[in-house]
Amino acid sequence: MSRKLNAPRGTADVLPDQAALRQRVEETARELLESAGYGRIETPAFEATELFSRGVGAATDIVEKEMYSFDDGGGRSLTLRPEGTAPVCRAYVEHGMHKLAAPVKLYYLGSFFRAERPQAGRYRQFWQVGAEALGSEDPAVDAELIVLLHQLLTRIGAGGLRLRLSSLGNPASRSEYRDELVAYLRAHSNRLSEVVQGRIEQNPLRAFDSDDPSTREVMASAPRLLDRLPAEDLEHFAEVRALLDGAAISYEIDTTLVRGLDYYTRTVFEFTSDDLGGGGQSTVGAGGRYDGLVELLGGPPTPGVGWASGIERILIASHAEAVAPAPPDLYVAHDGATAAAFAVALEARAAGLRVELELGGRSLKGQFKHAERLNARFVAVVGEETLSLRDRASGTERLVSLDELVGHVKRGIAS
Ligand code: ATP
Ligand code: MG
Repeated sequence: MSRKLNAPRGTADVLPDQAALRQRVEETARELLESAGYGRIETPAFEATELFSRGVGAATDIVEKEMYSFDDGGGRSLTLRPEGTAPVCRAYVEHGMHKLAAPVKLYYLGSFFRAERPQAGRYRQFWQVGAEALGSEDPAVDAELIVLLHQLLTRIGAGGLRLRLSSLGNPASRSEYRDELVAYLRAHSNRLSEVVQGRIEQNPLRAFDSDDPSTREVMASAPRLLDRLPAEDLEHFAEVRALLDGAAISYEIDTTLVRGLDYYTRTVFEFTSDDLGGGGQSTVGAGGRYDGLVELLGGPPTPGVGWASGIERILIASHAEAVAPAPPDLYVAHDGATAAAFAVALEARAAGLRVELELGGRSLKGQFKHAERLNARFVAVVGEETLSLRDRASGTERLVSLDELVGHVKRGIAS
């Protein structure tokens, strides 16, 4: 025997009962987003590497260490998409969508790829549903998107949800704040943990996440980004919050929420679930505003806001259990009259019934057993010249014509 092969590390096959669960998430997302005017967009599974190094930011975890990049054979570097926002913005620019009425509202469903250490809820190929609205600064767009994600998560049944919310202001005010924070950390460096000291320059905001008691004391009086927001950004944030309050969505303001991507401006948010069991994989969905991104990708200045949510994480957080497939309405059995049985099955399916045809070479007795296992309501027994229909619910059997068969089954399943 040849050596057997397995799916690559960090990837998984989705078998039918799991696929049915995913389908529910996909259908709910489609329904919610399309009823709010979002249209589906599908971008390629790979893009020019430069799209992500420019659009996500060269100094982010994603670009520094999580991308699957390869040479296309012609000296160009391509990358399996690690996220969807940059590709959607690339498509927006490429198709001149700024000429459409704003905001342009798009959603996507598809698989994404990141070279990460696989763990529960963290894979190398995973699925995301995402939504983006381009062309409007209106805080109502931010709030509406947050509400839509909240509705999606609650409809699927994600447990222990929390929404963390903040505003990052604009790049200029953020960089001023960063300088102020770095100066503050340097001034108090003797009371900071070694780890925090080591990344003052690189990532000063991470100091807020430290568990070290002395560091925490220092951070309690550190300057906060939210207190340094320019007036227009503060107002924008207040408006987003007021709309969420009006929609009875509860949230915590988290001034240390930064998000991994460089392109965020103003609103940022994250939904975590206590039911994801922590371990750094507690975020079910996250997003924010990225008013500079389209321009960075060669388009006209265009505000934008969006989110993405991991479908596997949504399912883990909602403890979704495998669902049994709906049983067939009709099982088509035969004792060698293959062509006739084949025709009966096609005809009954064309009439809208759920029909399974005997394909396993079983004896008639075996076929009845199989129909029982499948919990088919009716069994058609097809001979060369005869057709009989057995109602498994009542145990009755009668000879029927092909024309009568569908009517009988339909009346039977309706009763
Ligand atoms: P994390 O902090 O867990 O690494 P992230 O900030 O990298 O998440 P985003 O880039 O915001 O995640 O992606 C949006 C969502 O996609 C996440 O909230 C999560 O639900 C999902 N996701 C991200 N990376 C993975 C992965 N490797 N496997 C499964 N789902 C993922
Ligand atoms: Mg990550």
